[in-house]
Amino acid sequence: MKAKRVSDKKALGRCSWCGKRIKDDMPVFGFGGRKRPGVDLTEYEGSAILISLATVPKEVICMVTATGSPAKAYGKDFMFMICSEACADEMKSVMEAEAALGNALFGNLEELRN
Ligand SMILES: [Zn+2]
Repeated sequence: MKAKRVSDKKALGRCSWCGKRIKDDMPVFGFGGRKRPGVDLTEYEGSAILISLATVPKEVICMVTATGSPAKAYGKDFMFMICSEACADEMKSVMEAEAALGNALFGNLEELRN
């Protein structure tokens, strides 16, 4: 899979959905999911990539989990960092639509709160 790599500096501490800065003292919401079988993200492991969505004109930052990381051990191939419950709800419903398209990266989205 070809994806645009995003620098950690740009990706970390930013909401995947609205792009707002997430301050250190703010609660962080997140969710992750499994990639579709056959999608190879190996070269992006441990970095952030930019994904163009198909159902809405939007690009979202997604963190590809690294082999050996706790998220990976829980079966998450990618993670999103979200600033608020409102963003999480909105993003989740869009991502479910993306997954339903069948050609998207997002096979199985599961909520993951921290
Ligand atoms: Zn947000």
